[in-house]
Amino acid sequence: MSFSSDTKNEIAHSRAAKPCCRSAVAAGFIRARGYVFPQGRAGIGVAMTTENPAVARYIKTLLFERFGASASLHVGDCGFKKGRHAYELKVAPEKGADRLLSQLGGIGPLGAADERLYKGKCCRKAYLKGLFLGVGTVSEPEKGYNLEIACGDEAFAYAVRRLMNSFPGIHARVRTRRGNAIVYLKNAEQIKDTLNIIGAHAHLLKFENVMILKNIRNRTNRINNCDNANLDRALGAANRQIEAIDRIRMEGRMDELPSHLIDMALLRLERPEASLCELGELLDPPIGKSAVHDRLRRIIEFSRG
Ligand SMILES: [Zn+2]
Repeated sequence: MSFSSDTKNEIAHSRAAKPCCRSAVAAGFIRARGYVFPQGRAGIGVAMTTENPAVARYIKTLLFERFGASASLHVGDCGFKKGRHAYELKVAPEKGADRLLSQLGGIGPLGAADERLYKGKCCRKAYLKGLFLGVGTVSEPEKGYNLEIACGDEAFAYAVRRLMNSFPGIHARVRTRRGNAIVYLKNAEQIKDTLNIIGAHAHLLKFENVMILKNIRNRTNRINNCDNANLDRALGAANRQIEAIDRIRMEGRMDELPSHLIDMALLRLERPEASLCELGELLDPPIGKSAVHDRLRRIIEFSRG
C-alpha cells in the first residue's frame, strides 16, 4: 500500500461529524470522479469510479444517507493498471439519481452549486477531502514532498487552487502535465497543514516524524561537512567579508542586495568570528557551508561594483 492510498483509507474510515460536511465530501468526490450516463427511457444515472474499495464503500454510505441515492457497487478491471481493480458506483435513475443531480446542480464544470455546498469553513475542508479521495495523491515523505489534486480541466484546477489557498498558509500552484491540469504543493509544512485540513491525522503524524528525521539527518550532514581546520584562513576571509560589507553600507547600497544576501551580510557583521558552518546553522532556514561561502562570495563581488 502506498502512503497515498493509506491516507485515503484513513479518511474513508473516519466519520465527519456534521451532516453538511458529509454532503460536501460526497459532492467533492462526485465533482472529481462522477459522470452521468443515459439509461433508456428511465432517464439519467450518475456513476463514479475509484481504485480504493474503502473509498467506494464510504461514498456509497454518504450518497444514501445524505441524498437518499442508492448506489450499486461494481468491481471491474482497472483499464490502465494491470491487476488493479476499479470500483464503480452507479446510481440508476430510479434509485435517486435525479435527487442527487438536482442537489448538486448537475455534474459539469465547477459552478455556483459547488460553491454553495462548501460555503462554511467546515464544508470547505470536507469538500477538499472529497476531491482528495477522488483525484488526490500524496508522495511517500521519505521519497519527497508532493501533494497533488489532478483536476483535468484548467478552470476546475484554478477553482480548486482558490479553495485550497483560502486556508491560511497554503499556497498551492497549478501546472499542466500532458493536458491534465494539476494543483500541487511541494512544501512540507503546507502538505502537513493540508493533511490536517482533510482530516488525515494519523498520516499527518507519520509525515511529521519523517520530516523531523530528515531534518536531523540534514543537520548532521551539514555539521559533518564542516571543516574548522584552518581557523586562521577562515579569519582572514572573515575580515575581507566584513570590509566588503562595510563598503556596501557606506555607499548606501545595502538595499540593492537580494534579501537573503542582506541577511547573510548582517549575520556576518554580528558574528565576525563564526565559521561558515556556524553561520549556516544560524540562518533560517539553515544552509550548508558551501552555500554560505557562495553567498559571501557574491557579497564581495557586489562590493567591487
Ligand atoms: Zn459543514
